[in-house]
Amino acid sequence: MVPVIALVGRPNVGKSTLFNRLTKSHDALVANYPGLTRDRKYGEGEFQGRRYMLIDTGGITGEEEGIDSAMAMQSMQAIEEADAVLLVVDSRDGLTPVDRRLAEEMRSNGRKVYLVANKIDGINPDVAMAEFFELGIPEVYPTTATHGRGVRQLMEAVLSPF
Ligand code: GDP
Ligand code: MG
Repeated sequence: MVPVIALVGRPNVGKSTLFNRLTKSHDALVANYPGLTRDRKYGEGEFQGRRYMLIDTGGITGEEEGIDSAMAMQSMQAIEEADAVLLVVDSRDGLTPVDRRLAEEMRSNGRKVYLVANKIDGINPDVAMAEFFELGIPEVYPTTATHGRGVRQLMEAVLSPF
């Protein structure tokens, strides 16, 4: 079984940068993955000999008119399809109401979730991360998606159950 991993979070936090770093086939053929639809971006990747499928989403702004707006919907559908969810936040922005809402959404949904504290470059990771532990997600990984820092530790954790 190839695990499906979804990237969700606000726009501009670094989801697509992470997606591009973690996939070699950026537009994976989804025919082999029953149930997956094409309005989200799928990629295939491999880490330490283990294959996975990654889903990129457009992001949730928190300003949608209702939960059923297109971008929020596709993020929710990505969460439904995924075996594990990477909730990506921007360490420079700190915790926002949308991050809190998404964390709550995952909790009620019961998905295995990892908090990715991205854009940790140039700031103190301990200070930045302390705030994110408030979300009640025990797995918090600091990353710099643009340079790959922290990505190995993150993927080791995410793939270890599979
Ligand atoms: P998305 O909207 O969540 O998919 O975010 P993108 O991946 O498009 O990234 C938004 C912007 O943040 C781009 O200009 C990226 O180069 C930048 N970015 C992504 N990751 C990092 C990071 O770790 N550190 C810094 N400084 N910038 C980043
Ligand atoms: Mg993007």
